[in-house]
Amino acid sequence: MGSIDSLIRKNIRSLKPYSSARDEYEGEAAVFLDANENPWFAPLNRYPDPRQRNLKRIISELKSVPAENIFLGNGSDEAIDILVRAFCEPGTDNIVSIDPSYGMYEVTAAINGVEFRKAPLAEDFSLDAVAIRELVDGNTKMIILCSPNNPTGNSFSQGDINELTGWFAGILVIDEAYIDFSPHSGFLPWITEGSTLVVLQTMSKGWGRAGIRLGMAFGSTEVVGVMNKIKPPYNINMMTTREAIKTLGRAGEVRLRVKELVASRDWLREQLGLIPSVQKIYPSDANFLLVRVDDADSMYEFLKEQNIIVRNRSTARGCANCLRITVGTPAENESLLKVMRNYKIKG
Ligand SMILES: *Cc1c(COP(=O)(O)O)cnc(C)c1O
Repeated sequence: MGSIDSLIRKNIRSLKPYSSARDEYEGEAAVFLDANENPWFAPLNRYPDPRQRNLKRIISELKSVPAENIFLGNGSDEAIDILVRAFCEPGTDNIVSIDPSYGMYEVTAAINGVEFRKAPLAEDFSLDAVAIRELVDGNTKMIILCSPNNPTGNSFSQGDINELTGWFAGILVIDEAYIDFSPHSGFLPWITEGSTLVVLQTMSKGWGRAGIRLGMAFGSTEVVGVMNKIKPPYNINMMTTREAIKTLGRAGEVRLRVKELVASRDWLREQLGLIPSVQKIYPSDANFLLVRVDDADSMYEFLKEQNIIVRNRSTARGCANCLRITVGTPAENESLLKVMRNYKIKG
């Protein structure tokens, strides 16, 4: 307990959180005149549950994690922002992460006035523990990793993470946005009481619900407690909650779609490998492929002219001439291949 408490920003440690009407009375009264709501237009006239109990109960069962170890955010982007605000003192503390990875970590650190340090990945995009260790100092409150990593697609091993937790006493965040596509089981089972590990997941990718904005953070009771303390009280709205519950109830169907996408990804890899302008396709545990081509800018423009948009990642470290291609429907994948096969004619 003591060790996590000492990681929390001073002003947050002493913060007395806002107590909403729905926090102060949680029973099943017949008449609610406590929150200045309009009595008409039910049910959306009411504020949503600030503790998201129903939704957390379902996620808890699905993930085998107690509800008190779950934080829900308006996308994982909100969870990342809240983690930075809970633990990192602006102007003093720093965050160490990896390069290349998801751009939001650096932006969020910058918005919060927190120094962001990037340890290059090895050439094969594996974790370089020495590079990370070199950047960590007494003011490093947080290490952020992403596994499977975006945009590289690879996962980090249990050995890699074990090595880090062996010596790093701050908050270790592992973003598992793509875990549903991965053969690895991920790091949820590593969260124990008193641990400083935070695992992020989301409904935006495998669950196919990017539009509802629901991110999940899993951590020890203390870490989740401080996140809940500083979140906006009603950050998960009723429509998101309702749609999330519906989608989580169709877990079997969603799993089948994920399996299909993984099969499509492997098929797409084979097909892309036959195209002469494709130089290398990196291994992927996610729903995208990082593909090195002869000339990424020109291929990107060529695809765009045919109304196919991929992500040009050529300016990311170690990703020269790389496009990040999301796996689509079989028809979309065929359209992509058709255009890419024609590329040599133009080039
Ligand atoms: C897509 C993605 C997310 C999802 O963020 P949401 O805010 O939950 O939509 C998180 N992390 C990474 C690395 C991603 O690529």
